[in-house]
Amino acid sequence: MTVLTGAPLLPTYARFPVTFVDGEGCWLIAEDGKRYLDLVAGIAVVGLGHRHPAPLEAAQEQLERLWHVSNLYSTLPMEELATKLSGRFGGAHAFFGNSGSEAVEAAIKWARKVTGRAGLVALEGSFHGRTMGALSITGQPAKRAPFEPLVPGVRFATPETLAEAVGPDTAAIVLEPVQGEGGVRPLPAGTLELARALADEHGAMLVLDEVQSGLGRTGEFFAWQHSGVRPDAVTLAKGLANGLPIGALLVADEAPSGFVPGDHASTFGGNPVACAAACAVVDAIDAELLAHVRETGARLEAAFDNTRGAGLLLAIELGRPAMPVALEALEHGLLVGTAGETALRLTPPLTISAEETDLAIALLHEVLA
Ligand code: PLP
Repeated sequence: MTVLTGAPLLPTYARFPVTFVDGEGCWLIAEDGKRYLDLVAGIAVVGLGHRHPAPLEAAQEQLERLWHVSNLYSTLPMEELATKLSGRFGGAHAFFGNSGSEAVEAAIKWARKVTGRAGLVALEGSFHGRTMGALSITGQPAKRAPFEPLVPGVRFATPETLAEAVGPDTAAIVLEPVQGEGGVRPLPAGTLELARALADEHGAMLVLDEVQSGLGRTGEFFAWQHSGVRPDAVTLAKGLANGLPIGALLVADEAPSGFVPGDHASTFGGNPVACAAACAVVDAIDAELLAHVRETGARLEAAFDNTRGAGLLLAIELGRPAMPVALEALEHGLLVGTAGETALRLTPPLTISAEETDLAIALLHEVLA
């Protein structure tokens, strides 16, 4: 069903049979000139749309000035981004890496350091990344099995069994407010509140993995803001620099800071170009855009049966294999993702217009007919 290009790439991905060369807003242009309406946005990454002028200008300006100095020195974009993210969080300190997995690794190390404990509790069905630590807390056995033994001390729970899994050895409870890769499944109501109470009771850290759900994707800057449950730490990546590689761990000011020089590091973390773009992204996620995400998400949800998710992180449950449907959508000039085996995943740019939303709905109805 999928075509390999023949390029010397290790086959870790089964790619769709298309090669893109240009992008603009919600549109991608393939080698042959064909245009595609993009409801994937690089898997919830290109939140402002392709070539959005604000991060583009910020990155271009920084490219002309300074690319890299290492974390032995400070740069203005990194300091500015940390300050902006702290403001959005309501007081936090940042560590910057280059991906979601790295943000999760930093969170695991931080939680172990500040608690002096090894235990990690995560949910079945979760996804936290492919590096060894992040994979160890990913609640999908098939993804873990070929790479065992992994990091010890991990317990998996369901929202119903969370209380049994957390104990005096727990360093952190790590949760996605909406499970993304696991099928776009919002946590059942009350789960974040329960996790907060359990973390407080046992002296564990509550870490929310907002790599996919953060940066306005669910209609709030952080998905936890829908509940008001404040985590001790949050991980961000994907949408943070609109497509340039970046990841961040934010630790709440009231949580123990834990790290001292030498505890953790990243050569490229806090790269000035990525941070400059990210500053422009954070500024662009304002009340108007968040309202647009909520409204557009509600329109998309209402247009189909069997939907789930929040804001513009949505799944349509098909009850049959989703990949052939995604391939057919491609032929109709529409990019959709999949979530698990049987659901389509829609993560369009947050900036998708009303007309583009209408077109997406019409095309998807055609494909699903
Ligand atoms: N955490 C969550 C919730 C994710 O959805 C992902 C990626 O999909 C990751 C972590 C890993 O991010 P990355 O692929 O940037 O390492």
